[in-house]
Amino acid sequence: MAELGSHAVVLGAGIAGLLAARVLTEFYESVTVIDRDGLPDRAEHRTGVPQGRHLHSLLGRGTQAIGELFPGLLDELGAAGAVVDDGDDLSRLYVRVGRYELNPSGRLADPRPLAAYQASRPFLEFHLRRRVNALGNVTILDRNNIVAPVLADNAVNGVRIINRDSGTASTVSADLIVDATGRAGRTAHFLANQGVGVAPEERVPSAGGYSSQLLSIPPGRIAQRMAFVNQGSRAPGALLVAYEHDTWMLAISCPAESGSPPTSFADMLQAAESMLPSTIMAGLRDATCVGEISVSRNTAAVWRRYDRMPHLPSGLVVVGDAFCSLNPLHGQGMTMAAVQALTLRDCLRAGKTDLPQRFYRDAAEHIGPVWAANRANDRPAPPAAERASARWLNSWIQRAALRAASADIAVAERILRVRGLIDSPVRLREPSFFARILLANLRHPRPALYVPAPPIHSSVSQTDEREIRALVDGQAKRRRGRTEITRLRYLTPDVALIQARAAITGRLRCRMRRNTSVAVRTDNGWLLAFSQNTTY
Ligand SMILES: Cc1cc2nc3c(=O)[nH]c(=O)nc-3n(C[C@H](O)[C@H](O)[C@H](O)COP(=O)(O)OP(=O)(O)OC[C@H]3O[C@@H](n4cnc5c(N)ncnc54)[C@H](O)[C@@H]3O)c2cc1C
Repeated sequence: MAELGSHAVVLGAGIAGLLAARVLTEFYESVTVIDRDGLPDRAEHRTGVPQGRHLHSLLGRGTQAIGELFPGLLDELGAAGAVVDDGDDLSRLYVRVGRYELNPSGRLADPRPLAAYQASRPFLEFHLRRRVNALGNVTILDRNNIVAPVLADNAVNGVRIINRDSGTASTVSADLIVDATGRAGRTAHFLANQGVGVAPEERVPSAGGYSSQLLSIPPGRIAQRMAFVNQGSRAPGALLVAYEHDTWMLAISCPAESGSPPTSFADMLQAAESMLPSTIMAGLRDATCVGEISVSRNTAAVWRRYDRMPHLPSGLVVVGDAFCSLNPLHGQGMTMAAVQALTLRDCLRAGKTDLPQRFYRDAAEHIGPVWAANRANDRPAPPAAERASARWLNSWIQRAALRAASADIAVAERILRVRGLIDSPVRLREPSFFARILLANLRHPRPALYVPAPPIHSSVSQTDEREIRALVDGQAKRRRGRTEITRLRYLTPDVALIQARAAITGRLRCRMRRNTSVAVRTDNGWLLAFSQNTTY
């Protein structure tokens, strides 16, 4: 063990603080983690992390990093109820970008980095906290407000805190302070107030909001473990993630251009209707809400560029959201916190000299490409800022890449790896990848396009509707397609009329098939008795 000092203190016991604490235990005799909340001994929401009520998903790179820092923890998450997927079965993911559904056949070259351990934010944080607590040289001091670091002779050597129960103020001395107090972190103000300097800030303003609702859905109702729909930066999007113990989180994003985020589950369902396939919608209609809906109207991103400050005191490093908070819609914050923990470990391995400067510089190499890609997505350049030819080329490449990903497994894998932050976004601009996209477009000139379903008009009972849908879906599966039911009604209590439509993909063009069927109730359930197709 490389001993760099006797005591390190972490401010904040969120994800970034817990991961940093784990790293510090390798280099300091003892580590204290301080938080204002009382930290529960189970997976539970807490006031210091209000965002914990929103959808949180951990990306592939974050999963790898957490597995590396805490050997065996991923298995523990699975054993305790997290939804585990080895990454090999793409049919458990429903992904649509624009009108392109990611639906390639074949096997991934390397599925391991895409393995997923899906669980709610309180669940993940609780299991991390338990492992940190079990480390021999860590103390967690909860119910203490952090006031400010203590600075003397250009070095931070402690932190002032106030105990929330007794009101007693005290100073905790430390060789190193790591600030992980989240979005509202105050180190930038502290440095400015102390005359050290002003940290330049990069910002991407908020572009809308979103709503999250925790749900309970009976097992087996939805075949996928995750559904993700991105219709572009100016249209609503949807994300549905399976969590521990048959709970699911549904989030609907709403850019400012398309109104306000939904404020009730009924409104969320209505928004999801035009985005998610009918099979997933059928499961969502069986859901029961767990707790209240959470609505956020802030998707702003802020990067405090400590790396650009000419002077920094020794003994103080800022990590996690307090350093760089990304647009939550991209779901990258916990993963970036994990990547920063590994960066901090690598910097500490090289000693204490210029630690803050080295950390911010190295971390910027990870943040920079992700920041640039997010900004390009969130704030596409206004038409006037790009030449018409460049604009046309960029949008053609984007469409070609999505078309390719819908049918070519290698293209889909690269995009999933970049989305999971396993690979840098710059890998999407490599010439060899571009060649692969062109080839895939020549091989599959007409991929299946998503056809939004019109709202279903149904007069049948929910139980009958579920059974009839299963019949129609089963038939569509045999034809390797997907059918959207547009109308469903009883002709008699035991005979139902079904009207549906499906996209048929040919080599030269994509056509629609309209289908009219009659289903009959028998002693063994519903049977399809008659079916007629019209193509148009
Ligand atoms: C709405 C929303 C949705 C998100 N969705 C995702 C997602 O899907 N995937 C993802 O990876 N990331 C997501 N994120 C980001 C993610 O929550 C954070 O990036 C990640 O948790 C790292 O945060 P942190 O540990 O730096 O800060 P936080 O999690 O905010 O923790 C800060 C801690 O500091 C404590 N603290 C703060 N001030 C004081 C004080 N003065 N005294 C004592 N204690 C204090 C708080 O109690 C808290 O425990 C989302 C964020 C938001 C806002």
